Amino acid sequence: MRLVFVMLLSLVFSCSSAQETASINSDNQRPKLVVGIVVDQMRYDYLTRFGAHFGEGGFKRLMNEGFNCKNNHYNYIPTITGPGHASIFTGTSPKYHGIIANDWYDKEIGLSVYCAGDPRMQSIGTESSAGRRSPYRMLTTTFADENRLFTQQRGKTIGVSIKDRGAVLPAGHSANAAYWFYGKKEGNFISSSYYMSELPQWVKDFNDSDIVERYLKTWDTYKDITTYQESGPDNTEYEGGFKGKETATFPYELATLKEENDYFDILRETPYGNSMVTDFALAALEGEALGKDAMTDVLTVSYSSTDYIGHNFGVNSKEIQDTYVRLDLELKRFLEALDKQVGVGAYTVFLTSDHGAVEVPAYLQSQKIPAGYLNNNDRKNLFRKFLQKTYGSSNLIADISNNQIFLNYEELDSLGLNLKDVQDAIVNEQIRYPNVYKVYSAYAMSTTEFTNGIEVLLQNGYNQRRSGDILIVDNPAYITYGKTGSTHGSGLNYDTHVPLLFYGNGIQQGSTLKKTTITDIAPTISALLGISFPNVATGSVLDYVIKKD
Ligand code: ZN
Ligand code: ZN
Ligand code: ZN
Repeated sequence: MRLVFVMLLSLVFSCSSAQETASINSDNQRPKLVVGIVVDQMRYDYLTRFGAHFGEGGFKRLMNEGFNCKNNHYNYIPTITGPGHASIFTGTSPKYHGIIANDWYDKEIGLSVYCAGDPRMQSIGTESSAGRRSPYRMLTTTFADENRLFTQQRGKTIGVSIKDRGAVLPAGHSANAAYWFYGKKEGNFISSSYYMSELPQWVKDFNDSDIVERYLKTWDTYKDITTYQESGPDNTEYEGGFKGKETATFPYELATLKEENDYFDILRETPYGNSMVTDFALAALEGEALGKDAMTDVLTVSYSSTDYIGHNFGVNSKEIQDTYVRLDLELKRFLEALDKQVGVGAYTVFLTSDHGAVEVPAYLQSQKIPAGYLNNNDRKNLFRKFLQKTYGSSNLIADISNNQIFLNYEELDSLGLNLKDVQDAIVNEQIRYPNVYKVYSAYAMSTTEFTNGIEVLLQNGYNQRRSGDILIVDNPAYITYGKTGSTHGSGLNYDTHVPLLFYGNGIQQGSTLKKTTITDIAPTISALLGISFPNVATGSVLDYVIKKD
């Protein structure tokens, strides 16, 4: 009898201790914090081209101790900020998450809408309308949303960026908060009534401090400019520059230049915009006690200044090189703070970009590479004549935006025209216009399953409810843009190829040259956390990135 009792007792004990070990193990396996870093407009080759200037604590720490997906691409057109941020965190493309551009023509209301705009909301932290934002136009969940559901809302989500869309879309629908920067004469981090009725004290304290003001100083190169051998000359015809300074050359006296460049807005176009984002992210880490308990928190951080600087100075500029040399130091500072606040090995980081960018076409031309600038007025005039001649109407087009033509369905009806016939006729017309590379109809997008090439990217970017009737692709390296600076949006490698680095808790050390796509990130992080995938994630789990136990 006594023996049986002892046996039973030991059975009970061994069971409960086994369960306890299991639960401790799974708690240990789950990172306390996931940090999703997006570097806006970061081409993959910045990692390799500027690599010699990086220290051991920033990009190289992520690359050497983490996992480097060297052949990571966007799988849709257009490669721009709103769709990019949505795709990284939802694990799917505009076809499903519905963020088809930054701004697009809304067919239902007949007006242009903004991807993160929400007129029902009020600004928090500014009198301006810059806070009237929410993620409601994004139709699917992010991994942070799934983490909120999984943890019974005990795991927090905070989004931070200079750009509103860089904070709002990644953080998702159920985020505790998203914060972004409002410059002009205010220079504060702000939010929306979607999240709160008042800024928390730590944000007020941050805004009341002189952290932002102190960056209105001189921007000179961090290292001796003669060591920057991996970019073009400081003074070229391919750079924009700031108002109030004749040449786009170092040094830039921001305290003076701010007068003609919208005051605090000038910081967005300098590396100090990235420093401010790090400062604010670290304040969030502390203010929200992120990564302090077993419930995984999510912090999304989007560095926007890289994009503003690329647009202004071009991807081959000294200004861009200096920005990445400095961003490397920001990452070091960020990672060291995470080590201290959350603990080495207790957090997981990924770093990627929302799109790349093209070399300045005028510079490519100087190197005999096919490139150029589009004259949209010529195209529009040809098109207007065609419509008049063929249909006798000047009212058939509702809108042309984001390389898409939206037809006026009421006019089609009143003229008794068949939608597919008109789409086909426009495809046959547009393909003859200068520097048009490909043209497809919405009908083709909805009825054909493309299996390779640019057509697949177009289809992944095509949302049946929201996209236009005709989709136009321009010649490689042809852009609608000024003669200075770089831009992005195409399905070509300079825009689709971006870094993808994983680091920290649960991450294997290594690298791959296998092709990965941007939509793989959210499923991979979900698998790492053992949570449900974002509801329409279409990417794959990169199983070789995750440590086997
Ligand atoms: Zn962007
Ligand atoms: Zn320059
Ligand atoms: Zn951009």
